Amino acid sequence: MSFLDYAPAPESTALLNLRPEYGLFIDGEFTDGHGESFATISPATEKPIARVASADASDIDRAVAAARKAYEKRWSTLSGRDRGKYLFRIARLVQERARELAVAESLDNGKPIKESRDVDVPLVAAWFFYYAGWADKLDHAGLGANPRALGVAGQVIPWNFPLLMLAWKIAPALAAGNTVVLKPAETTPLTALLFAEIVQQAGLPAGVVNIVTGAGETGRALVNHTDVNKVAFTGSTAVGREIARAVAGTGKRLTLELGGKAANIVFDDAPIDQAIEGIVNGIFFNQGHVCCAGSRLLVQESIHDEVVDRLKARLSTLRVGDPLDKNTDVGAINSAEQLERIRTLSEIGEAEGAERWSPACEFPENGFWFAPTIFTNVATSHRIAREEIFGPVLSVLTFRTPAEAIAKANNTPYGLSAGIWSEKGSRILAVADKLRAGVVWANTFNRFDPASPFGGYKESGFGREGGRHGLAAYLEGGVR
Ligand code: NAP
Ligand code: MG
Repeated sequence: MSFLDYAPAPESTALLNLRPEYGLFIDGEFTDGHGESFATISPATEKPIARVASADASDIDRAVAAARKAYEKRWSTLSGRDRGKYLFRIARLVQERARELAVAESLDNGKPIKESRDVDVPLVAAWFFYYAGWADKLDHAGLGANPRALGVAGQVIPWNFPLLMLAWKIAPALAAGNTVVLKPAETTPLTALLFAEIVQQAGLPAGVVNIVTGAGETGRALVNHTDVNKVAFTGSTAVGREIARAVAGTGKRLTLELGGKAANIVFDDAPIDQAIEGIVNGIFFNQGHVCCAGSRLLVQESIHDEVVDRLKARLSTLRVGDPLDKNTDVGAINSAEQLERIRTLSEIGEAEGAERWSPACEFPENGFWFAPTIFTNVATSHRIAREEIFGPVLSVLTFRTPAEAIAKANNTPYGLSAGIWSEKGSRILAVADKLRAGVVWANTFNRFDPASPFGGYKESGFGREGGRHGLAAYLEGGVR
């Protein structure tokens, strides 16, 4: 250890009061599931954290029935103001239990504690505060007077931002007057189960929020349940397609938030130091397990070498390791399966002729780890430039003119997000206008705010979450 190394600064897990086993949360209570229970593990150690129930079709039936009853008998009879009070209460409880939620999230997901503590959990609270404020103002959502709720929402979320995706789904649904059944991802069920405790603490009427854990089969049973009025899904494009097919013709409303392969475009007049930080944040934040990650760096040819050199120097200072250490920048890959996917695509990148580089990293003996990686000499046709890797892997491409940057940025089946780095405001606006992406960041990346709509074009899905648009997805008369 040199004198510049950081001493370990582990966050304590003492305040975590986890149960050894969790049931399904249905009708306000934890109950057994009929599927085979499973262990959720820490991806940094591969050690089991808790056992979690698995919901089969009969459990989904119970959960949807509880949500239906709560909708008819209770939630739809409350005023918006009263619904808002419950949501404000949930938001405050999230703040009160923030540290505990952050530790649980980092333990179960592998993300660095400084991210779960400073990004995920504060945004979760912000989402509930924001939509709490909307609950009594639905007349102003732009959907006419007294817009009606849809009924029961079936919601399925991925493992990369477990609690934040829950908040993106549950907060607008409840504010708009719906009740919900939510399935968290198999590898990250823990914070959703702690959220179920918060729902109890907040005194929410039984059945308004139901949490059903399990694997893909559980999600499928929920999506296909005939008494669900609305399906909201965040996850891969492949599963999104299957869901779109299953829901077609049923009259259920659907929103899909799927994958991405965002271009992060750096012009030669960009503030380079800021851009380097933005590129790093764009692809190495949350181990690159980010649907809107800036995974394709498009850099103007004249500054390519300088940017790549500085990027390599910066990557060499990133600390990869224990997610619960407060100094960690890059944590563990969420699962062995995801690690395998990242490895395979990276090997394909090398085989296709791109040049691979990573800083030297020492990894713990157990757990799932992947060094931050840069590919240069990448061609638009390479699979690492086209497919979502969903890991800490950046593909660097070049351009000469703004028109070429725009053409390359849009040359993707996805369209979730993009970034532009330039000192010149008029150029930023002109380029942003031509990018087919739901979110375009300028001189920043991966910024989220509950008031700002988020969602995709093309294979990144349809519908928007966040802002007034996010409410429309849960109200009659709203966009599909
Ligand atoms: P995934 O395999 O599609 O899984 C997402 C969720 O769907 C999980 O809860 C999963 O359960 C469940 N599921 C699997 N098969 C299903 C089926 N046939 N019917 C219903 N539900 C099913 O995606 P992932 O690998 O967990 O997540 C990574 C992907 O999500 C990436 O492509 C990423 O871009 C995308 N993503 C998009 C956004 C966005 O906002 N656009 C945000 C985050 C992630 P299991 O956990 O048991 O598999
Ligand atoms: Mg886990």
